[in-house]
Amino acid sequence: MPLTINGLSKTYPNGVQALKNLSLTIGNNMFGLLGPNGAGKSTLMRTIATLQEPDTGEIWLDGVNVIKQKETVRQLLGYLPQEFGVYPKISALDMLNHLAVMKGVTKSGERKDMVEALLHQTNLWEVRKKALSTYSGGMKQRFGIAQALLANPKLIIVDEPTAGLDPSERHRFLNLLSAIGRDVIVILSTHIVEDVHELCNRMAIISNGEVLLEGSPTEVLEKL
Ligand code: ADP
Ligand code: ADP
Repeated sequence: MPLTINGLSKTYPNGVQALKNLSLTIGNNMFGLLGPNGAGKSTLMRTIATLQEPDTGEIWLDGVNVIKQKETVRQLLGYLPQEFGVYPKISALDMLNHLAVMKGVTKSGERKDMVEALLHQTNLWEVRKKALSTYSGGMKQRFGIAQALLANPKLIIVDEPTAGLDPSERHRFLNLLSAIGRDVIVILSTHIVEDVHELCNRMAIISNGEVLLEGSPTEVLEKL
């Protein structure tokens, strides 16, 4: 199984127990993690993304120990936090080109093809020369996906992506995720039932740091 989470617990210094012996296996392309605010979703996502450590428990991604082999895992995953960073004044085109160089794609022809394909895939071709700082919320989210895809990841983690998007941007973004989900494992963390229902083939409901229900959206949502 691609991603296995075993007995994960996390208590913050203020005494909040965000994860309570949580176990989950994520083997399908589009996995939804649904839960109210404060359920522990971001803590779980950040832990999988190697940005914080649990107190106890293990996570394995394709045979790689996520908690111990951070550098290896970072090359396998893309993470879109809820609000990711400050947006520079440079354009999407320049930023992706720059990131491709950093990644070692030094042949300019190869780089051009790669960056152009990503801009088309994420529907940013029209605005590729505009500064990222002028992008709408939906455009920023799609740019985040383009940036994540550049690394050719096996797993993409998306935290509350549709919060603050208008309906048409939301649909555009969900369609993009579902297209990506054909090739890559996508974990979608959200408190919006419809996002999971429309997109995911498996899901879990998280509440108070624990898995309440797990299964296909049809199975799980009818038990609610
Ligand atoms: P969700 O993403 O589902 O809203 P979080 O993982 O952000 O849940 O939060 C789970 C619980 O842990 C909440 O009660 C939250 O306030 C608390 N929490 C999250 N991050 C921290 C932190 N850095 N320090 C203390 N408490 C935190
Ligand atoms: P989410 O919407 O994912 O639950 P929050 O708004 O709870 O995120 O948290 C935003 C940031 O504040 C995160 O970095 C989180 O770790 C931190 N945080 C959340 N709750 C607390 C808390 N009770 N004490 C300290 N930091 C917290």
